[in-house]
Amino acid sequence: MQTPPRFLRVPLIAISLPVIIVGLVLAYSDAALASTRVAAQQPTVVATTGMVGDMVREIGGDRIRLTVLIGEGVDPHLYKPTRADIAALARADAIFTNGLQLEGKLADTLKRIASTGKPVLAVAESVPRERLLSPDGADDHPDPHVWMDPALWAEAIPAVRDTLSTLDPEGRRLYEQRAAAYASRLTALDAYAARAIATIPEASRVLLTAHDAFAYFGRAYGLEVRGVQGISTESEAGVRDIERLVELIASRSIRAIFVESTVSERNINAIIAGARARGHTVRIGGSLFSDAMGKPGTWEGTYIGMIDHNVRTITEALGGTVPEGGLRASGEPSPRSDDPH
Ligand SMILES: [Zn+2]
Repeated sequence: MQTPPRFLRVPLIAISLPVIIVGLVLAYSDAALASTRVAAQQPTVVATTGMVGDMVREIGGDRIRLTVLIGEGVDPHLYKPTRADIAALARADAIFTNGLQLEGKLADTLKRIASTGKPVLAVAESVPRERLLSPDGADDHPDPHVWMDPALWAEAIPAVRDTLSTLDPEGRRLYEQRAAAYASRLTALDAYAARAIATIPEASRVLLTAHDAFAYFGRAYGLEVRGVQGISTESEAGVRDIERLVELIASRSIRAIFVESTVSERNINAIIAGARARGHTVRIGGSLFSDAMGKPGTWEGTYIGMIDHNVRTITEALGGTVPEGGLRASGEPSPRSDDPH
């Protein structure tokens, strides 16, 4: 190997130090620029309910900045936006709602924002229309509680994935991978729920809850569902409704009815008292998560954890047994309270 002539080596060494320094400075400022760009380009999205937010977070991961408006224990039917909510909605690059008139009091605000051309995706409206339930045959007002059937809820995943991909095309691959992973977790959840509910003795497969949020759940798993209030908590249950349910409990020997984290227990207590007056004992089978998830940072504070909780509570109170090992045995990673995802 030939040694380079001395006159070449000296200038090379002399040049290289400043070049390295300049190179480092350039590399640093490049990196700084790139990270500013990522932060600036990171889509800012807002979701209305926890269930919608959970799906968006599962698909968007760390690439998106997500704000969820309606928190734990809050009833979306009655929710009124705060000033901070309206500011968040105005700032957002995209908005994900449940739709189907679930967020009744937010409807005007959302309509106004959608008219500016900002993407507003009604997640529950992106499932096949023919699979929606319409109470009393009122086709113009389908039941909004679509998340109660995990297989049906999973049908909304592609619309969320595509909305995020349009907003942030560089993230497309990641969104596709995460969407596919989430879909398979919901498939496992659905299979688990079906196995658990099937252990309830057939005559006891009646689910009586505070308001009519469980029709999709009942259709998916073969439970007859009755709600004290209608599909929106905006309408009050009358004395006649309560009387009818007391009769149902007595005639079907229903042994447990359920309260919901977002609805007052007043009606449920009136029913229990009414049944007792007829010599029939019915107890509260537990509290179900209907229109909001549990506490953030807990297993029930995730969509899958919320359904898992409901399945276990309903199954055990109505005389069934959840499969050994719970949801984990069906392939769902173990619930971690420190990391809800
Ligand atoms: Zn509801």
